[in-house]
Amino acid sequence: METADAVVIGGGVIGTSIAYRLSEYRKVFLIEQGEIGAQTSGSCDKAIFLQSKKPGFPIKLAKASREIYENLEGELDTSVEFKKNGGMIVIESEAYMDSMKKFVKEREKAGIDVKLLDHKEVRAWQPGLSSDIAGASWCAEDAEVNPLLLTQAFAQAARRRGADIRTHTEVTDILCERGKVVGVQTTHGRIATETVINAAGPFAFRIAEMAGVGLTIMPRRGAVLITEKLDPLIHGNILCSQYIAAKHAAGDTGNVPPYGIGLSLGQTDSGNLLIGGSREFKGFDKSVGPDVLSGIAKHAVRIAPVLKDVNIIRSMAGFRPFTGDGLPVVDKAKEVEGFIIAAGHEGDGIALAPITGQLVASLVENKDDYNDLLKPLRLDRPQAV
Ligand SMILES: Cc1cc2nc3c(=O)[nH]c(=O)nc-3n(C[C@H](O)[C@H](O)[C@H](O)COP(=O)(O)OP(=O)(O)OC[C@H]3O[C@@H](n4cnc5c(N)ncnc54)[C@H](O)[C@@H]3O)c2cc1C
Repeated sequence: METADAVVIGGGVIGTSIAYRLSEYRKVFLIEQGEIGAQTSGSCDKAIFLQSKKPGFPIKLAKASREIYENLEGELDTSVEFKKNGGMIVIESEAYMDSMKKFVKEREKAGIDVKLLDHKEVRAWQPGLSSDIAGASWCAEDAEVNPLLLTQAFAQAARRRGADIRTHTEVTDILCERGKVVGVQTTHGRIATETVINAAGPFAFRIAEMAGVGLTIMPRRGAVLITEKLDPLIHGNILCSQYIAAKHAAGDTGNVPPYGIGLSLGQTDSGNLLIGGSREFKGFDKSVGPDVLSGIAKHAVRIAPVLKDVNIIRSMAGFRPFTGDGLPVVDKAKEVEGFIIAAGHEGDGIALAPITGQLVASLVENKDDYNDLLKPLRLDRPQAV
């Protein structure tokens, strides 16, 4: 039987980031049932936003990850199209103004470089937006990255450090003896190991079940439209205040717009616009209906009329791993020694991938350097569903 110091399950942005960090010191296997980055991490937007996170711990965590991004391309020795070009949250109408003023004040207090722009300043900076826009919040520290390149870059860098990356290999069981992990069963044989990291994103609850560990993570579907290639049309990434309302709503009830639609707008280096998005609980069903797709398009055109005559070339859907309180679980399971969970990053996995790799490395090496960041991410925290 093959042996590994650690087996990482899941080849999304989280699993590859973990494999990269761990393979510096350990013999790591990364097991992915399909292709690297082919699930949520390949069906998402590209924003590394600080201002969209809640004040307090979520901002602290996002800042720690954002700092790692500063030197990540150098570390990974490749471009991942990381850009520090700021982010804007458009205030669609006066109805959102009071809540967005509060939003900006809270983030200023949390030490984020964010300011309120009036409608003239918004239009001067983003001429494609509607003249009806009431204003916007602007954060110079917000950034963006190409998630496809990022996930591949983590995997490549892990491989260079000696990680064994197995694609088209499904984990079918976690092998435990006397309350300890002893290996994993895959569709291509067994691997003996005393450390398993469950980084299976929206599927992580199934892996946890194999180890007899309770984990509630639900897939929260999101759809994104992709346009034809265009000349540069926007500056940085754009969200809207309705997006913030949908993001921070706990579920499908309450003050959530239909289909959880809120604008997210970003442009790739190759010129395609990514226009998002929606938030729905539909299990693992990827068949997004025309009502949702047209809802996203209409909402986007209302905010950015410049999009009216732009052609959509395709759409994609992914499953945000939803924990209920907007934070991932990064913790050792108490029930089974050697079983670590790093999943549930909901709509922030791209922003949080770099720090998640560091947190898991700290857990595996039994260090106490990240205790302040790990404590709120415990599996048994009260706020998790
Ligand atoms: C529409 C949309 C827009 C988003 N926009 C942003 C954004 O702008 N910024 C941001 O920070 N985040 C964003 N996100 C969130 C981000 O995409 C996710 O948080 C992140 O991709 C989750 O990564 P992951 O590695 O945990 O999951 P995944 O990428 O889903 O990876 C999990 C992997 O585990 C594998 N797996 C599952 N079961 C098994 C098994 N039994 N054996 C082997 N392998 C298995 C799967 O095949 C999969 O590849 C967005 C998400 C969506 C859906």
